[in-house]
Amino acid sequence: MDRSKAPTCDIAIIGGGAAGLAAAIEAATCLQRQGSGLGLGRIGTRSETGINPVVVLERLDRVGKKILATGNGRCNLSHQPVCLDDYHGLDRSFAGPALGRYDVAVTLDWFRQMGLLCRTDEDGRVFPYSYQATAVLDILRRALDRLPVTLRTSFRVSDLRPKRTGEFLLTDSDGQRLYARSVIVTTGGLAAPSFGCSGDGYTLMTRLGHRMVETKPAIVQINCHKDAVRGLAGIRVNGTATLMCRQKVCRQEQGEILFTDYGLSGPPILQLSRAVHDALEQSRPDDATVHLDFLPELSLPDLVAWLKKRQAGDPSLPLQDFLNGLLHKKAGMALVKQACGCSLAEPLSVLSEQAIQKLATLVKDWPLVVTGTQGWQQAQVTAGGVTVDDFAAETLASRLVPGLFAAGEVLDIDGDCGGYNLQWAWSSGRLAGAQAAAFCHTRPKDR
Ligand SMILES: Cc1cc2nc3c(=O)[nH]c(=O)nc-3n(C[C@H](O)[C@H](O)[C@H](O)COP(=O)(O)OP(=O)(O)OC[C@H]3O[C@@H](n4cnc5c(N)ncnc54)[C@H](O)[C@@H]3O)c2cc1C
Repeated sequence: MDRSKAPTCDIAIIGGGAAGLAAAIEAATCLQRQGSGLGLGRIGTRSETGINPVVVLERLDRVGKKILATGNGRCNLSHQPVCLDDYHGLDRSFAGPALGRYDVAVTLDWFRQMGLLCRTDEDGRVFPYSYQATAVLDILRRALDRLPVTLRTSFRVSDLRPKRTGEFLLTDSDGQRLYARSVIVTTGGLAAPSFGCSGDGYTLMTRLGHRMVETKPAIVQINCHKDAVRGLAGIRVNGTATLMCRQKVCRQEQGEILFTDYGLSGPPILQLSRAVHDALEQSRPDDATVHLDFLPELSLPDLVAWLKKRQAGDPSLPLQDFLNGLLHKKAGMALVKQACGCSLAEPLSVLSEQAIQKLATLVKDWPLVVTGTQGWQQAQVTAGGVTVDDFAAETLASRLVPGLFAAGEVLDIDGDCGGYNLQWAWSSGRLAGAQAAAFCHTRPKDR
């Protein structure tokens, strides 16, 4: 192979998403610091082929496309506070060192120094002050422009090979090649394939001996039996959603729930979705259910008392108006229909005490049978991924391949909805970038 045609860099980063861009900024900053005063051809300087010491290889025609879609275009880039309980994976403690070293305060200061001010809403979600995701990508790109980083887009790494010289050879699907002294894999997972994620990182890593934890779509809408939600699409209610499997509570969340033609969406539902696949695997058909409480602030006895009072005060009121003022009219009618099983034109006086009790119970606990989720196309994040057992938590370095690092969603760490996943991407990306730079610094140059 004629290697003179393939440029060499110090650090190649596979994937120009949130973790990859954070890694590139950190790696280049560290290399610059370490290499200040060094001559051409040394670590951290432009190579004879004109390529910068840090190269980001991105398969799409632009870096950071997913960042633009985050937080509905507003980019919920972090959360205050963040703790390990907000993360998942077979060993969530693995995320501790990265999240501790590059914590929320450090991250927000990093953004501030790059020129981005942020704001935190009442739920603790952190956004750019302008609420525009474009501002986040612009700031990252500006920082990259000012550092010795080359962005190579439309470069889909299809092969990653450690050579006997200690370098890595990276080849793209068109046969273009690049040598690197160290590699950081930040290819994301399988969620939202339209943003370039189709599991390439898993293939590259498993070929090098890394193991996988089964992947499942997370932070995704939930499918329910369509008959149950028919006619309710578009309705939003503030309530509690509880995922149950075999009569046991898997997880409970509160907030704005959105009915759709396939089932349920909204922040509490997205939050529950991670547990849906496990619940479906463990349960018999129709045994995984989401229970909605439309009035979490009101106890069942208080609701029963109110409904009885309303019945006594206006016995000729048609049933279709019984829950008016308490619930969205369509949701109210669906519940009355299910509980009472009679025409909605009937007056309240037809309802027995038992029927009122049944209706109140349904308002507080409406079970919907779960059939699945909207899958990878709609998922925001991947649960599972490359096992963290094969990496050192303090450095994010592979235990199997010297000089190889990984960060972000490609690893078996995922966060809840609310800015936790981007925080993991920034923290782990920066840690991997700094450590890859340190690796290049301490290791003598081979050529
Ligand atoms: C619609 C949507 C909204 C979201 N909103 C939020 C939010 O508001 N807050 C939050 O915290 N999280 C949010 N997330 C999740 C968050 O965006 C991700 O967890 C985070 O971006 C993961 O960062 P990453 O760099 O690890 O991977 P990614 O951002 O997925 O980046 C991976 C990159 O690698 C590239 N790539 C893949 N394979 C190759 C290859 N073989 N060669 C070269 N390049 C390759 C991809 O094209 C991609 O650009 C959202 C996700 C989605 C889909």
